[in-house]
Amino acid sequence: MPEEGVELLKHSDILSYNEILDVVNEGVSLGIKKIRITGGEPLVRKGVIELVQKIANIKGIVDFGMTTNGILLQDYALELKKAGLHRINISLDTINPEKFKKITRWGNIEDVIRGIEAAKSAGLHPIKINCVITKHPNEPDALEVTEFCKTNGLEIRFIRQMNLKTGEFWQIHGGNGGNCGLCNRLRLTSNGFIKPCLFSEIGFNVREWGVREAILRAIREKPVKGTKNQENHFNNIGG
Ligand code: SF4
Repeated sequence: MPEEGVELLKHSDILSYNEILDVVNEGVSLGIKKIRITGGEPLVRKGVIELVQKIANIKGIVDFGMTTNGILLQDYALELKKAGLHRINISLDTINPEKFKKITRWGNIEDVIRGIEAAKSAGLHPIKINCVITKHPNEPDALEVTEFCKTNGLEIRFIRQMNLKTGEFWQIHGGNGGNCGLCNRLRLTSNGFIKPCLFSEIGFNVREWGVREAILRAIREKPVKGTKNQENHFNNIGG
């Protein structure tokens, strides 16, 4: 999220939970088996537990996860587990409280640590930590996060800082993201676009095309390799 803030979407442009459920249902009927809720920050949206519960009840989903900044997780972990979420990824680039505050602009790392504890006690498994690095997992902050993960029995994935504008992206260390040859992911944005790739300006709006057609068109437009994306920002495509 840029420091100067972002232009807010109109409320009427944001998909309702029922519309999101329609997309998930249609996707599952077309063979999608994995669903991940991401953001922005999913836990700030009112009623998110109900959405999780309804998605979890859709037959055919074998892997259901969420990516969160972890700040509200202490309040929601148990409810998420009870609602049927399988696993959780938490973004954590440093465990230094001052740096954490600086990176997030206001966050308190203690909240995230309590959130991780709550997720462990709730039985969300595995808990994966997404750590953004500039270049290498041996950077001092990344080493500290690695140590923290070892001590706390958490899996870690390193995500090299990406640049949408220039199309600079890398495979995720410790995960299978970023491998275009194997990538079969689709992304639904909060305002209803199904995108074939993060690094692509293309998107098909479900309200305009209809859910099934938007999904099929996005599948047909899966690129051989991600290129660049001049129009979107990570805060609105959930990168
Ligand atoms: S196709 Fe796009 S979303 Fe998939 S791995 Fe490549 S750059 Fe990422």
